[in-house]
Amino acid sequence: MRHQKHDLLAPLPGTARQIHSFHFGPHPANRKIYIQASLHADEMPGMLVAWHLKQRLAELEAAGRLRSEIVLVPVANPVGLEQVLMDVPLGRYELESGQNFNRWFVDLSEEVGNAIEGKLGDDPQHNMQLIRSNLREALARQTAGTQLQSQRLTLQRLACDADMVLDLHCDFEAVAHLYTTPEAWPQVEPLARYIGAEASLLATDSGGQSFDECFTLLWWQLKERFGEHFDIPPGSFSVTVELRGQGDVNHPLASLDCQALIDYLIHFGAIAGEPSPLPELPYPATPLAGVEPVATPVGGLLVFTALPGQYLEAGQLIAEIIDPVNDLVTPVHCATAGLMYARSLRRMATAGMVIAHVAGTEAYRSGYLLSP
Ligand SMILES: [Zn+2]
Repeated sequence: MRHQKHDLLAPLPGTARQIHSFHFGPHPANRKIYIQASLHADEMPGMLVAWHLKQRLAELEAAGRLRSEIVLVPVANPVGLEQVLMDVPLGRYELESGQNFNRWFVDLSEEVGNAIEGKLGDDPQHNMQLIRSNLREALARQTAGTQLQSQRLTLQRLACDADMVLDLHCDFEAVAHLYTTPEAWPQVEPLARYIGAEASLLATDSGGQSFDECFTLLWWQLKERFGEHFDIPPGSFSVTVELRGQGDVNHPLASLDCQALIDYLIHFGAIAGEPSPLPELPYPATPLAGVEPVATPVGGLLVFTALPGQYLEAGQLIAEIIDPVNDLVTPVHCATAGLMYARSLRRMATAGMVIAHVAGTEAYRSGYLLSP
């Protein structure tokens, strides 16, 4: 195992932060896996899974079973981790800019496309190496003006040439679920089975230039631009894995999730061994554009009647919003039938607030598909 430290741009004199990456297995290897945890720094289940994984990967490396390079970043957001305000961790948005830590990774598809124009050939392997080396160079040329940009750039450089990128997150109160692209779904489906994903939400471009999409979109856009004349392979696929809710940080779940990731890496061929039998897929993949963000029209005490993981009929009651001053009780229903995979942790709702997400089967939304 090689431990690398990557200095972030210090925002002030006398302050310094680093991203720590742990590299297991052969280097260079013909394939690379990148796994990071807690990019939203108030989502800890993934960090505990990464810690379990770190021990297991060291054992597997010692046993000579790693076939691919596996890069692990257990603390992907040291900037956000330190944002604790009056006893409340605030790790989703950077306090200085208000920006979501998991948005606006740099889009280099046009720059890389211009650089490779005229150099593509008939061999997809040649094209893949050409795109990867140009992507690495384009990222190396980028400069960061802020600590936040520096953190994003560091993570993007570490993951840019990986065949597989796994970004470990969680929701507020939720069952296990994941986000990926329709193009990657055949490769991701075994992961959904091993991890027990009760919803798998598919979109090619959800509009936020999030960490997972900054890799898949580059290959997708290059294929759109050059695919008619050249074989552009999908050089990278990525998955945002939502390991239940913020409170679900415990060893039994983390060791099960760690085992699920190892089973998947064996299945993928990154670790030598006999893959475990694939469990049933709990719920078929559905379009991200079919997710209903259920909002309340009024503010008040939020009392849920539905649990994460519950399948709801269209029009079913999800919660009551109680105004204890006027004794008004407002029922909130979902419009779409589907699986309620996540709900809010807050119990005092404000008017217009999204209180739950239901995975419907039919796409009906377009444009920007993510939460802020
Ligand atoms: Zn997250």
